[in-house]
Amino acid sequence: MLADVLERIDRACARAGRDHREVRLVAVTKGHDAESVRAAVLAHGHRILGENRVQEWRAKAEALGPDVEWHLVGHLQTNKVRYCRGFALLHGVDSARLIDALEADGERHDHVFPVLLQVNVSGEIAKHGADPAALGDLVARVRAAPHVRLEGLMTMAPYDPEPERARPVFRALRALAERHADGRTSMGMSGDFEVAIEEGATWIRVGSALFAPGATRPNEVDR
Ligand SMILES: *Cc1c(COP(=O)(O)O)cnc(C)c1O
Repeated sequence: MLADVLERIDRACARAGRDHREVRLVAVTKGHDAESVRAAVLAHGHRILGENRVQEWRAKAEALGPDVEWHLVGHLQTNKVRYCRGFALLHGVDSARLIDALEADGERHDHVFPVLLQVNVSGEIAKHGADPAALGDLVARVRAAPHVRLEGLMTMAPYDPEPERARPVFRALRALAERHADGRTSMGMSGDFEVAIEEGATWIRVGSALFAPGATRPNEVDR
């Protein structure tokens, strides 16, 4: 539920001595249709939404109209780049090939893509995310691409029922972000966003906690 998540964000910010306005909630809508998203999120005044599949996004974006800031939170495939100019932020960019594809499309359409570079901090066998050792090269590549703008770094912590175990991953991403991207980070999901906030997250990507069963309290949101 949105009100609960916002309250938990506020408490985590208070613990960390942070202003809650430094933490932007991306409400991840994957698997939920436009009407559910409207009822659970938009109706309460929150308009930053995330989707992880470009295909699903196109139908949903059309249904929900222009008053939404859309983020692509999942991994982006090179052949989908041409559909991505409608996103305010691409969270999952992790290869030179993808940066080149974005640059080519951006140049063709006079568009600048704001991106986060996804890093596989934990070194676990994960499908996506750049090796931290390769990050410097990717950052340099983005900086040399006039139609791609680096907004920060992103990571996914390995799934673990104990959120504290994500802390070293978040801390490491933050350190990399301090070096490469003014400290800006997208990290933390339903199971671990409070730890991510304590470790400095500037975007959190929360899905299931917003759509958990239960009545939604109306009119409690002022941002
Ligand atoms: C689904 C998803 C989320 C949100 O996950 P929840 O555990 O439902 O909060 C965040 N980031 C990415 C990349 C996702 O695919």
